[in-house]
Amino acid sequence: MKVTILTHTPEPEKTVAAAARLCYSNISASEIMENFSEEKASSFIKKLMDMGHMSPVEHVSFTFAIDGVSRTLLAQLTRHRIASYSVQSLRYNNPFKGETVDPQKEAETKARHRAYLEGLAFARNFCNKLDGSCADLVEKHDIKELLLEKISKDLLSSYFRGIFDGAGILEEGPDLSIAFPKHFDTVLNKSSFNITPDEEKILIKNEDAVNFCIYIYEDIDFISNSFCQEKLKALCQKSRKFYEFFLKTAESYIDSRYYSTLPESIAGKPEAVLTYIKGLESCKKNYLELVKMGVDQEDARYILPMGTQTRLVMTMNVRSLYNFFHLRCCQRAQSEIRQLANLMLAEVKKIAPGLFEKAGAPCEATGFCPEGKFSCGRYPVQKPEAQSRKTEVGSER
Ligand SMILES: Cc1cc2nc3c(=O)[nH]c(=O)nc-3n(C[C@H](O)[C@H](O)[C@H](O)COP(=O)(O)OP(=O)(O)OC[C@H]3O[C@@H](n4cnc5c(N)ncnc54)[C@H](O)[C@@H]3O)c2cc1C
Repeated sequence: MKVTILTHTPEPEKTVAAAARLCYSNISASEIMENFSEEKASSFIKKLMDMGHMSPVEHVSFTFAIDGVSRTLLAQLTRHRIASYSVQSLRYNNPFKGETVDPQKEAETKARHRAYLEGLAFARNFCNKLDGSCADLVEKHDIKELLLEKISKDLLSSYFRGIFDGAGILEEGPDLSIAFPKHFDTVLNKSSFNITPDEEKILIKNEDAVNFCIYIYEDIDFISNSFCQEKLKALCQKSRKFYEFFLKTAESYIDSRYYSTLPESIAGKPEAVLTYIKGLESCKKNYLELVKMGVDQEDARYILPMGTQTRLVMTMNVRSLYNFFHLRCCQRAQSEIRQLANLMLAEVKKIAPGLFEKAGAPCEATGFCPEGKFSCGRYPVQKPEAQSRKTEVGSER
């Protein structure tokens, strides 16, 4: 998600201060504007905001360019009626247009998958057995073990991933440590990671184990069968650093391949990320098929997910922005729109800090939460008599 202020009313704080001052003055606003220093305008604005005299702030507006947000966010955002919007259309834009099949890339993907299967076959030959899904894969593709020397350097990571899925065991204990059967040392010694021999096994430990896992998952293709979901999940649970790497890789995969966003609570569970990717793949595949059949893009888009990204330009005046920040910076707002609101607030504060001093979630300004039993618990819940008093900014959700 990216937020840029494209433009805004010039001299926002002076404009608001002049409009407000006019209410109590017998000279024209243009004269007031000429004679207002920045400092005087700031102190006047502070008084105005303390009083809750909000109509003068409607004279100032900000125009934002918002990129890389989901269509789910768009539906929530455009409920804010006191604003103007221009949105990138899926009627005229096929998000996957220009995506061509690169034969070289396809060949590389196939070669990596084969190297992974060869790693699995190597593990099977030494361990005599593989877990169910891994064993099926090797059988199905009729893969024979291939000697390490014959694997090209750029396929080694996939080959090692096969060995890890086939024979690697995550050791008990707080830190990540991977055990392999003893006779795997001839192969694993050829990696650049420290191998520690133990009585009956060899170990890759701690930082080396994390870096080994990052290395073997670096070229992962999430929709291929070139990894064991259970192992990946266990690694994410065991190492924070590995989990962060996994999320970054998945996010960039989802962005570049599906032009989609990754919501916060899906990102919180590796198995949910993998299920989400499966869903995105299916939607994309069927969308492209419909377009190929000659169905209009404006109708084919019905099958695209709500997570599909869009871009928009939005203009809001300061009063409406106050209402927006009040509702959407709150912890109870959905995570993506909350992230957008916080980014927008940070941007407008750089331009007009005095004007937005009291903007944000209601608890930040008052020290109390108006959400009652739904409170996130960061601030004490507002007393019922205070709650019933209506504030100038809207409280409707
Ligand atoms: C946590 C959360 C949960 C939500 N859940 C739902 C939901 O389940 N279902 C749902 O439909 N929406 C839901 N919403 C959206 C919500 O109801 C509002 O539509 C949205 O937040 C826009 O707020 P708004 O109307 O104040 O903003 P704007 O439309 O920008 O209006 C700003 C202010 O102008 C005034 N105003 C605007 N239009 C009128 C009018 N026609 N009559 C009188 N006054 C007007 C009001 O004072 C209003 O507060 C949710 C919002 C939040 C933050």
